[in-house]
Amino acid sequence: MGREAYRRKRGFSRTPEPRGADMPSESEKRRFVIHEHDASTHHFDLRLEVAGVLRSWAVPKGPSTDPREKRLALPTEDHPLEYADFEGVIPEGEYGAGTVVVWDAGRYRNLKVDDDGEPVPVAEQLADGHATVWLEGEKIHGGYALTRVAQGEDERWLLVKMDDEGADARRNPVSTEPTSVSTGRTLKEVADEEGDA
Ligand code: MN
Repeated sequence: MGREAYRRKRGFSRTPEPRGADMPSESEKRRFVIHEHDASTHHFDLRLEVAGVLRSWAVPKGPSTDPREKRLALPTEDHPLEYADFEGVIPEGEYGAGTVVVWDAGRYRNLKVDDDGEPVPVAEQLADGHATVWLEGEKIHGGYALTRVAQGEDERWLLVKMDDEGADARRNPVSTEPTSVSTGRTLKEVADEEGDA
């Protein structure tokens, strides 16, 4: 699911979302973002920079900091890198209509090494259906595992916190830390300030 699928679904004369550069540069710094998205169904979108695009999953309940919690993650089309900065209101009638905030963002690194101690590219890990990454966000930090549990039309993944210093079963940042790390606004404030009506 590449850039063309992303573009086909959107009317860029109407939606404030980025169209994406035609030739994205390979960035050495790899970003991640977790958008909170108040669409027809409220959810979070985890996006990891991989090979010049943001690989994306819709995570209905958002990330947990409790290693015992398995969070369903449904793959969605790759997004352009600039989408990591997107916060605003997708207009009614457009794909994904609703308010988006930058719920968390930062850098991530790859945790998986091969038998020779060489890092396994994240793209390769994802193709194999199991990836481990270390997220350094403002709300979320530590290792997370993404595991594909079903393929085909109903492809599904699970997002699970690894048991490390970032694990904390008592935290529940999805509900207790709602504001944008980009602008400090809540979903409602973004909707009120940037929505049409
Ligand atoms: Mn979404």
